[in-house]
Amino acid sequence: MEIDLTVLAPFLSSYFVLVALMAGSFINLAADRVPRGESVMRPRSHCRACGRQLNVIDLLPVVGYALRGARCATCKAPIGLAAPLVEATSGGTMLGALVWLGLWPGALVGLALVVLLGAGVIAAGIRD
Ligand SMILES: [Zn+2]
Repeated sequence: MEIDLTVLAPFLSSYFVLVALMAGSFINLAADRVPRGESVMRPRSHCRACGRQLNVIDLLPVVGYALRGARCATCKAPIGLAAPLVEATSGGTMLGALVWLGLWPGALVGLALVVLLGAGVIAAGIRD
């Protein structure tokens, strides 16, 4: 059976943008931990101020930040604007590549740009 990409394209595009948003989320985590020499795998994401483990709402890229009003839901410590900005940039970059180049090679180019963004953000964190 042949797969019709024109039918699948909207779903695949949404999927790639979602992956890019989650990649943005991981970039934030890595940029926060790598300069401190901490593991990016564990512990699970938590608030730096009160130690509360982040739940699924906190971890929603961009949306979680907006829902929480830019603050930790427990201790009200402010969350920097950098986090949702990196997530939005990551998702936007992927969306832009898909719109500009189509599903292929847009997804590949978008992924490469997101990786570059991640490397740049993490490198900037290490330099500080
Ligand atoms: Zn907190």
